[in-house]
Amino acid sequence: MSLPRTMRALRLTAWGSPPELVEVPVPRPSAGQVLLRVGAAGLCHSDLHVMDSPPGRMPYELPFTLGHEVVGTVVDAGPEVDPVWLGRQVAVHGVWSCGRCRACRRGRENYCFALTGPVGCGLGYDGGLADYLLVPDVRHLVAAQGADPVRLAPLTDAGLTAQHVVRSLDGELDGATAVVIGVGGLGHLALQLLAPADLACLVAVDPRADARTLAIRLGADAVTADAADAAEWLDDREDGHGADVVIDFVGTPETMRAAGDLLAPGGRIVVVGSGGGSIEVAKGRDLPRGFAVAAPFWGTRRDLEEVVALAATGVVRAETETFTLDEAPAAYARLRAGGVRGRAVVVP
Ligand code: NAD
Ligand code: ZN
Repeated sequence: MSLPRTMRALRLTAWGSPPELVEVPVPRPSAGQVLLRVGAAGLCHSDLHVMDSPPGRMPYELPFTLGHEVVGTVVDAGPEVDPVWLGRQVAVHGVWSCGRCRACRRGRENYCFALTGPVGCGLGYDGGLADYLLVPDVRHLVAAQGADPVRLAPLTDAGLTAQHVVRSLDGELDGATAVVIGVGGLGHLALQLLAPADLACLVAVDPRADARTLAIRLGADAVTADAADAAEWLDDREDGHGADVVIDFVGTPETMRAAGDLLAPGGRIVVVGSGGGSIEVAKGRDLPRGFAVAAPFWGTRRDLEEVVALAATGVVRAETETFTLDEAPAAYARLRAGGVRGRAVVVP
């Protein structure tokens, strides 16, 4: 197959600045690498945190192409790659782990010990907001033949991270009261992944009215505009006593304080959002007896396989708004302004 020599790519070229759409060479795969024609790439709020970082905060060298939620079709491969991959549609597991360290051997690739600098696709290495994407190894691909790439792309981070969180709560959800803070890209998928659990009550929090409407449609029993109101709502219930699980997809000082206030004894706070908040993890202070606090990062390859399978059976379905690559900078601006419902997805 003949490939063009150059392609468009949305690159971060300076810290604290919006990315730029530039022309770059189409990479050529060698050894065990594969080249994907990008079918769709989701825009994550994390990209805004990355763009906004001052020089020196992120362990990444500039420039690199953004886009860590990617679905594509394998169009070229290095000589070490099994040719069965050619022509397959795949979801990219963006954590480009080493595959050899203890964390990788235990199937915890998202905590790979080798990832001390760039993390993977679109996070230090060139990502999928481009016509083509070079992936270092087929270990990072999950086959997803026949699925709509636009619905699939958000599952590779928003859905994957939500699945990782929900799986980590296995055994803690039955009969529990849960609160989801932030019903954006990640939160709206988490609500769907929580829905099959036998929860006593699921409350969603978002200041945006359209996000709250979406949350009700996706199975929330109640919605509030701020997390403090969720505490009141829960206390008014017959079995009150706060929430057994609080998943904070915002992570600002306000939401994390509210998460602590909401927590029931023996409850767990899962902080996913990177909003700069903190919480004092100290015994006998503000948090109730038996608390747990976790701050998971992305998800494992197995989580990605699971969430892709759940989408195939209709358990989870991303709400998406589609943009062209030229429109991506404007779409990021909309995401920043809180104007995206579900996930913004670029089709280059
Ligand atoms: P998003 O912008 O799509 O969604 C955020 C949602 O939170 C929006 O609906 C917004 O209205 C809502 N919100 C804002 N302030 C709020 C408040 N005070 N109370 C309740 N809701 C509020 O963002 P996203 O892409 O879903 O990402 C969410 C966060 O998760 C970001 O901080 C992102 O960096 C982080 N993230 C973490 C991981 C991880 O592995 N830990 C992975 C991906 C994203
Ligand atoms: Zn992300």
